[in-house]
Amino acid sequence: MKVSFIGLGVMGFPMAGHLAQAGLDVTVFNRTESKSITWTEAYKGCYKKTPKLAVEHSDIVFICVGNDDDLKQVMLGKDGILAGAKTNAVIVDHTTTSADIARALSAICAEQQISFLDAPVSGGQAGAENGQLTVMMGGKESDFNRVEPVIKHFSKFVKLMGEVGSGQLTKMVNQICIAGVVQGVAEGLHFARSAGLNGVDVVEVISKGAAGSWQMDNRHNTMWQGQYDFGFAVDWMRKDLGIALDEAKKNKSTLPLTSLVDQFYADVQNMGGNRWDTSSLMARLEVHRK
Ligand code: NAP
Repeated sequence: MKVSFIGLGVMGFPMAGHLAQAGLDVTVFNRTESKSITWTEAYKGCYKKTPKLAVEHSDIVFICVGNDDDLKQVMLGKDGILAGAKTNAVIVDHTTTSADIARALSAICAEQQISFLDAPVSGGQAGAENGQLTVMMGGKESDFNRVEPVIKHFSKFVKLMGEVGSGQLTKMVNQICIAGVVQGVAEGLHFARSAGLNGVDVVEVISKGAAGSWQMDNRHNTMWQGQYDFGFAVDWMRKDLGIALDEAKKNKSTLPLTSLVDQFYADVQNMGGNRWDTSSLMARLEVHRK
């Protein structure tokens, strides 16, 4: 089977690597050519200079770029994916985007008898590198069945959530839940320090009960030490919370905590923390101690 991978960033580079290691015939494209060269030095596969050229013979086209606008560019540009993709190809988009763009691109693809699945991921850089991502997908079941065995090469769990856009809606729920939990862990550790407690000891006790969470287990130690270089960047989180808040206006849900935490992340950006990871909400609380 021939596949392409468009976008060799923090996530796409190792995801495409897993496909090559699984023995698939992989052609990659990255806007910055040097990353394509590094990829082909690390893995068996080839690269092309445009998305159009990269996808020409592919049965499945994977994408992992930044946001809605980036996705539009790689899909619809003169040298974009839809200028080169063959009839009956399936496009699997792993970018975190709005549900609207997924629906719009799916409709455009259908005119060319090309399938489109939105397929955002969770699990971060470590999940991509270890092939342990969770993938939440939207689209037709017949298309999902075609790509699921291939996606398994870089994931531990894949699920079809409903029609196109449902994967992105599920990812929005994921980000909404993370925002509140991270702020809770940050406030707990901040309070512990003010109370003269050792936060690491506190977490050793409370993580075994109802307060426990992935964020607490995996981030408390570095948060306690004021280290915020461990994964998903604040800039990306603000993009994702913005998408969720826009969608909430449309579906009339009320997200007071998410709105508040989004503004807290804006504070972190103003502190110079654009590329810090999401646990840096702690830095905002601790700033007065410096
Ligand atoms: P990244 O390291 O910044 O990589 C972005 C990739 O997209 C790069 O290959 C970049 O090319 C390419 N790109 C961006 N704009 C483009 C454009 N207009 N035309 C062509 N290529 C373009 O980002 P990432 O961390 O891999 O994240 C990718 C997506 O996954 C995002 O939607 C993010 O929200 C989501 N995600 C990330 C994580 C994480 O932990 N990092 C976790 C879950 C989901 P260049 O190399 O030329 O810049």
